[in-house]
Amino acid sequence: MKIAVLRERFVGESRVAATPETVAKLIGLGAEVVVEKGAGTLSRIDDAQFAEAGATIGSTAAATLKGADIVLCVRRPEAAELKGVNTGALVIGALDPYGNEAAVGALAQAGVTAIAMEFMPRITRAQVMDILSSQANLAGYQAVIEAAAAFGRAMPMMMTAAGTVRPAKAFVMGAGVAGLQAIATARRLGAVVSATDVRAAAGEQVESLGAKFIMTEALKDASGTGGYARELTKDEQAAQAELVAGHIAKQDIVVTTALIPGRPAPRLVTKAMVESMTPGSVIVDLAAERGGNVELTQPGKTIEHRGVTIIGHTNLAGHIPTSASQLYARNLLAFLETLIDKADKALAIDWEDELVKATVLTRDGAVVHPNLGGSAPAAKPAAAKPAAAKKPAAKKAAPAKKPAAKPAAAKAAANAAPAKAAANAAPAKPASTSKAAAKPAASKPAAAKSSAAKPAAAKPAAAKPATAKKPAAKKAAARKPAAKSGDK
Ligand code: NAD
Repeated sequence: MKIAVLRERFVGESRVAATPETVAKLIGLGAEVVVEKGAGTLSRIDDAQFAEAGATIGSTAAATLKGADIVLCVRRPEAAELKGVNTGALVIGALDPYGNEAAVGALAQAGVTAIAMEFMPRITRAQVMDILSSQANLAGYQAVIEAAAAFGRAMPMMMTAAGTVRPAKAFVMGAGVAGLQAIATARRLGAVVSATDVRAAAGEQVESLGAKFIMTEALKDASGTGGYARELTKDEQAAQAELVAGHIAKQDIVVTTALIPGRPAPRLVTKAMVESMTPGSVIVDLAAERGGNVELTQPGKTIEHRGVTIIGHTNLAGHIPTSASQLYARNLLAFLETLIDKADKALAIDWEDELVKATVLTRDGAVVHPNLGGSAPAAKPAAAKPAAAKKPAAKKAAPAKKPAAKPAAAKAAANAAPAKAAANAAPAKPASTSKAAAKPAASKPAAAKSSAAKPAAAKPAAAKPATAKKPAAKKAAARKPAAKSGDK
């Protein structure tokens, strides 16, 4: 069983799909691991570390891939780049299939089994494999770090002989996985933090992190299916805009993370709102890849408008590559463990396993995922189909799926005592590296266990965009890496 780890070709992608830690574990599972030369360089892992963990270093992609049964990657490789792998080889990564159907078709033609990790169902068993959560968690953290770096002032209150520096005011819009981690990070840096979300349930989590929850009376709760938000009505949007307009003018740092399954990112911050902010203020738009929450965001770029810096990075997790690779690689390892027979030390895939069904895009020369027009007989879609994706419920799980356990982290975060939640803001342990693991207090295995009993709707890790076509911004971001002012 040969596993190949590729050096990423996507310009600016700094992550790698394996680390010395996961390489050693894969070898323990009976694999021979070949890592392409320089694959870990941008994640600060050198070839010697991989070799020390037991990997062979492939001098070229061809040498790395030759005879591989499994290929691990971050971004989807082109079919032509996979020459030499065994027929049916598993290609596992964030394959970004929507809007890239032709490329997925080419993978099918190449005879590989493409597995999209972002389609991993959001059920308790798969939390440790949830790449969207692990990466969103880090992106939320990194958003605040980037904001702090661009902010010309101190974040915490400082009382010095020369006078007092007032603490920065930070406002987080969207308190999902990334937003909650952004709140926790801004709090750690000493900012006075407020946050908003359209799901009433988020309020308790925001407050448990020591931040103020801002929500308009007119908008009671816009929770949609499966714990996600629904799109707001026009009246609700107007009420929210009024609330935001009043609040944002007093903020120094704004981090926007708002997303609605199957829809372009909601537009929350208008040009006029940006212009109401004091020069020197910073906005980080984490929704840039889906079109942005801020009217002026330019995906992949950092711009300045009337003294306000607007950061529109589209791969913020890639800006913290060592940690991002560490968690991503563990996500992949956890999934691989379910595909390998530990006694036989060989691949033993249960094609009926719901995790496999949800993530396999191509098999035996054909596109098999139902969301991509495939016809795997019993497969349940992990994310909604294009037609259904018009509705906010697009991100919901397969219709027939039974309610699954509520994410451990979400519940723990919601239940966390404020002081504890604020203090225990360390990154989640791998076992609870779910999207919800952004919630600091949520990272304990014990919490994960107790929450497993509470049913909640199962959530797919990835939703199909509203239309078969991706938002233009996302496409641009996916294909054209921002070279200069944008992403690395
Ligand atoms: P997301 O990325 O879809 O959206 C980010 C946040 O934006 C959400 O909190 C959403 O409510 C909010 N939002 C949407 N429209 C908004 C608007 N107009 N104004 C302000 N905020 C707006 O969300 P996510 O981070 O994936 O998390 C969504 C839910 O899924 C959470 O409840 C989380 O706990 C849950 N979750 C479950 C699992 C699991 O089951 N394994 C894993 C991760 C997250």
